[in-house]
Amino acid sequence: MNTEWMVEGKCREYPAGTFFPQDGTGVIKAQKICATCPVAQECLEYALANHIEHGIWGGASERERRRLQRARRRGLLDLRAS
Ligand code: SF4
Repeated sequence: MNTEWMVEGKCREYPAGTFFPQDGTGVIKAQKICATCPVAQECLEYALANHIEHGIWGGASERERRRLQRARRRGLLDLRAS
């Protein structure tokens, strides 16, 4: 999978721990940074494709990525059923 987008990530300007927050305040802080990132979509897709469980990727928390994965799986199943 292409990882060239990583050099453009806004997170390179912050300590890595910023994107592995311990509480909700930290999650919001990381998500605000991701919201300004030019490669957020690539980042999110990378995390989903690689089943990355920890941290904020593409502005999505671990819980949000799990929800997104489930929704996508349901979408695929719905397409197959029709
Ligand atoms: S979306 Fe967030 S975690 Fe991903 S590259 Fe951008 S700043 Fe880093």
